[in-house]
Amino acid sequence: MMKNRSMCTCAQCPSYTSCMKEKNELLFCSTGKSACNVELKGCLCPTCPVTGMMGLTNAVFCAKGSEKEQRGK
Ligand code: SF4
Ligand code: SF4
Repeated sequence: MMKNRSMCTCAQCPSYTSCMKEKNELLFCSTGKSACNVELKGCLCPTCPVTGMMGLTNAVFCAKGSEKEQRGK
């Protein structure tokens, strides 16, 4: 999990906000929606190494919820 966190590319995403940074938020695919307001300006999840490694089928996790939540399980 910590390894995944260090691989997370959210901090380089145009949708990533100072609010998210202040809250030390990353790895939304695992933790679910951000506690901050999200104004989507793109999403780097599809090209993030965690997506390939974990076989993620969703994206925009900060706004839509974790992979598990988006799979409806
Ligand atoms: S898939 Fe998205 S939320 Fe998950 S680690 Fe990668 S950039 Fe972060
Ligand atoms: S989950 Fe996707 S849209 Fe949200 S900050 Fe991470 S890369 Fe950007």
